[in-house]
Amino acid sequence: LIDLGQPQRSVVTTCAYCGVGCSFRAEMKGEELVRMVPNQDGQANHGHSCVKGRFALGYATHRDRITTPMIRKRIADPWQPVSWETAIAHVASEFKRLQATYGRHSVGGITSSRCTNEETYLVQKLVRAAFGTNNVDTCARVCHSPTGYGLKQTLGESAGTQDFDSVEHADVVLVIGANPTDGHPVFASRLKQRLREGAKLIVIDPRRIDLVRTPHVEAQHHLKLRPGTNVAVLNALAHVIATEGLVDEAFVAARCEGPAFAKWRAFVGESRNSPEALEAETGVRAEEVRAAARLYATGGNAAIYYGLGVTEHSQGSTAVMGIANLAMATGNIGRVGVGVNPLRGQNNVQGSCDMGSFPHEFPGYRHVSDVAVRESFERAWGVPLHDEPGLRIPNMFEAALDGSFKGLYIEGEDIAQSDPNTQHVTAALTAMECVVVQDLFLNETAKFAHVFLPGSSFLEKDGTFTNAERRISRVRRVMAPKARYADWEATQLIAQAMGYPMNYAHPSQIMDEIAALTPTFTGVSYEKLDRLGSIQWPCNEAHPDGTPTMHIDAFVRGKGRFMLTQYVPTTERVNAKYPLLLTTGRILSQYNVGAQTRRTPNNMWHNEDVLELHPHDADERGIADGDWVGVESRAGDTVLRARISDRMQPGVVYTTFHFPESGANVVTTENSDWATNCPEYKVTAVQATRVSQP
Ligand code: SF4
Repeated sequence: LIDLGQPQRSVVTTCAYCGVGCSFRAEMKGEELVRMVPNQDGQANHGHSCVKGRFALGYATHRDRITTPMIRKRIADPWQPVSWETAIAHVASEFKRLQATYGRHSVGGITSSRCTNEETYLVQKLVRAAFGTNNVDTCARVCHSPTGYGLKQTLGESAGTQDFDSVEHADVVLVIGANPTDGHPVFASRLKQRLREGAKLIVIDPRRIDLVRTPHVEAQHHLKLRPGTNVAVLNALAHVIATEGLVDEAFVAARCEGPAFAKWRAFVGESRNSPEALEAETGVRAEEVRAAARLYATGGNAAIYYGLGVTEHSQGSTAVMGIANLAMATGNIGRVGVGVNPLRGQNNVQGSCDMGSFPHEFPGYRHVSDVAVRESFERAWGVPLHDEPGLRIPNMFEAALDGSFKGLYIEGEDIAQSDPNTQHVTAALTAMECVVVQDLFLNETAKFAHVFLPGSSFLEKDGTFTNAERRISRVRRVMAPKARYADWEATQLIAQAMGYPMNYAHPSQIMDEIAALTPTFTGVSYEKLDRLGSIQWPCNEAHPDGTPTMHIDAFVRGKGRFMLTQYVPTTERVNAKYPLLLTTGRILSQYNVGAQTRRTPNNMWHNEDVLELHPHDADERGIADGDWVGVESRAGDTVLRARISDRMQPGVVYTTFHFPESGANVVTTENSDWATNCPEYKVTAVQATRVSQP
């Protein structure tokens, strides 16, 4: 690294990438940000960071930033730079025209987990109060919406149960459908440290992820399942616990609903749920399942960490409930060192869900049909609010193709790259009359937009992010907005132009409103965040300084509820034409759709998506390492470079989705979770064929 000398001042802020939410000091020389240094006092990272966060400053000043609003009549037309005043007035008049022509519910908004809590809150308020519809959704739809649903059903709260520090008290760690080394690197380091101290490890994953065998760490059990069979494996684990006398009877009797538990015990005890009966379907040896279940149930404090390999399935919500069932059945919940811990992909997935950016829920996960809750928002916001759930993202696409959904405001999301079945998404965008993209860069979605509003990076605004452990941390303005307005100000201007009064002078006032209207946030303020460093919600009268561990004396819903988790195989099956199963994930140096990390030095480590395949599958197809491979599914086709790896199992291939050129989501399908519509990114039947240069 170049020696940049002593900084003149530093600003403490929060990384805008993954759900660990590391605290950084942004070190300044004059008005120039010279480096990001992990904050020793950071309560999520304790002075550590990864290569993403360290170099995150690169994209904020990248030459690709668009800093002038632009409009165009048709998507084939060139962009016309305009003033902010013209752009905002155009958005408002277009959305009013669409609502007058096609009805109030013909428009909607999508917000992002990359936005602050305050920005996300304002987008849903704009849609509900100024547009008068509940057609608002968030990118959590396509990642952790099953977590929200599954944990609410079983435990009563749509959030993880522990803080990250808790892992230091775990004796057994079960990691399912997550690859912390690449996805959550700072947490992974703490986890590995605990494993080196002697904690035992169970990994459930189709690939031999780094955690399975890494210096001084070796998993006791790696259940290398077939993609799409999580629920079958979880049921098999539950079968062993229920039939081998491994249930914590005292915990269940005291803390859980008896009749639901009795039904669950009978259900998982059926012979069809035994490891032996499910071995052929899951590909996991029955003895391995039995041994893993015994270790989880009897090894002391047992903690479960899971990721998108659990949620992004047609049974994502079922799998989340299956995980909660295991924790309740063995009493591994409600104290330090145990629990159910979703590793959120993006920095503010938890926050974007908390802030009510789902079409059926106000902030704090309260249904729009709840009269008392709705009236409290009507009083505060001064307008009548709609009482029926609005459209989810996939429903918006369907409605656009039906001709009933015409206008979409998208803040901070690149749905044309991140959402499944790209052709379907782009057809829907093309069918709309006014697509507004608010972003840092002209992303893939902007190709289908009629208005582009420049976004602001996390370094240019104040706000808060909420990480995977429910920790609310301050985002502090390091530099002036490159495009005049921070994102929350642009949203506010649209509301005003639509005729709805919104007059916040600072994001702290937005947080004050959130706290006044959301029971789990009543004790949160910028003053307290500055004083305590961060706060884990619930933060209220009962827990004025926040709540590191949830469900200690009782579950949020009172008694824990066991849910039946019938395994239903995905309809996405292999056949002679598509004989391989494709699954997707992330790599350490890149973040999500790569819009940010691709514009940093991180490209040194990784500058393309590749297709990992097992040597057996490569041999069969005459594919050598580095060859170009055509990948075809029922949805579409793309070309990727081959990487032959014995981390894979025969019949399963893997890629990432960081680069638009490879377009992994061109091949993923529209299958989705039965409860939440979270896409089934993790299971796509494909064929792979050696091709010449693309
Ligand atoms: Fe921390 Fe995640 Fe940022 Fe890395 S990407 S510095 S682990 S918050």
